[in-house]
Amino acid sequence: MAYDTDQITVVRGVAVAGQTGRYDLEIVQGLIASMTSVPEGHGGLILPLMADAHVHLDKTLTQGRLHGRPNTLFEAIELAQSDKVNWTREDLRARATSALKKAYAHGTGVMRSHVDWVEPGVPLPWEILTELREEWRGRVELQLAALMPLDLVPEAGAAVAKRVAADGGVLGAFVYRNDMLVTKVSQLFDLAEQHDLDLDFHVDEGLDPEAQGIDVIIAETAQRAYSGRVLCGHGCALSVRPKQVVQDLLERAARAGVALCVLPTTNSYLQDATPGRTPRLRGIAPLHEARAAGVEVLLASDNCRDAFYPHGDYDLMDVYRFAVLAGRLDAGSWLSSITTIPARICGQATEISPGASADFIHYDATDIDDIISRPRVARTVWRQGRPLSADPEGETK
Ligand SMILES: [Zn+2]
Repeated sequence: MAYDTDQITVVRGVAVAGQTGRYDLEIVQGLIASMTSVPEGHGGLILPLMADAHVHLDKTLTQGRLHGRPNTLFEAIELAQSDKVNWTREDLRARATSALKKAYAHGTGVMRSHVDWVEPGVPLPWEILTELREEWRGRVELQLAALMPLDLVPEAGAAVAKRVAADGGVLGAFVYRNDMLVTKVSQLFDLAEQHDLDLDFHVDEGLDPEAQGIDVIIAETAQRAYSGRVLCGHGCALSVRPKQVVQDLLERAARAGVALCVLPTTNSYLQDATPGRTPRLRGIAPLHEARAAGVEVLLASDNCRDAFYPHGDYDLMDVYRFAVLAGRLDAGSWLSSITTIPARICGQATEISPGASADFIHYDATDIDDIISRPRVARTVWRQGRPLSADPEGETK
């Protein structure tokens, strides 16, 4: 089959995730020219590109050179810190590029990476990843979020926000039982408003019911009418707080327009971890309850082969497979949590519709449960009307 962009390519008899029936897709010059309903077909299933809204391209793929396996988040932070002596320009570029290649090959078209920002000066990874963001445009739309310890905000928040705004990024912080938490979160919102920036938090990543940073973030978002611009990642502590408190919080989050990003793999790995003991608690935020309350819920990879999580391959479908099992999700109805919802939060549109770029993932599968059941089911990523396998240059650039 020729995939000349001047010719018409027809993908026949496919099911489209989120839609009923079967379709013939006519692709002309890289766009979906038409979607025609057909009575039947066995052409497999197509999904929108995936959007991975929470990764760490600065620390990724360092697992092979680390010594030790952490049992807590804070041990992981120390272990990751010990590797930073190796973070040269070349090392950062090579690891992040490898991660982007993996994500692209698996069908991810949008990604948001946090970048550690632990001192006032601009971190080298921020500079490198800003370069890579430009180089990868059109393949993986990369967004960068500054990840400050919340305690750095009073000292350096203003300078960080200014630089983040200049570079078109997102402002973020790590929030966990900080002193003066309300004041510091409020300062961060001030900076976001001044610079018109979206906010992305690592919040309450632990199993301590006293970790209540998310309450403050929701209240600030509501008070400032910052709806749709605030993303809370982790929220593990919500899994151990009283049911009615959580229910009220989630309803307030929905009204305020705060979205929740659940990171099931890293949380399951790091939470309630003790050598020789089977973990009872997995730290997965209450995603069913959140969605039922009207909160936008997304799922993302978080760490990948680093001090925080030794596994992963930037395959968001693999994360989804785990989330379906660990969170007991109905696989068909949660797919938007790795596709259209995170894409929109990152400012991108990835819907499969006439007139859109012919970017999608084709599975030789009957439905999404079939994909979940068969990890090795054939998957072909189409970008601009061409399967990536027919465009090896695109995969190796
Ligand atoms: Zn993270």
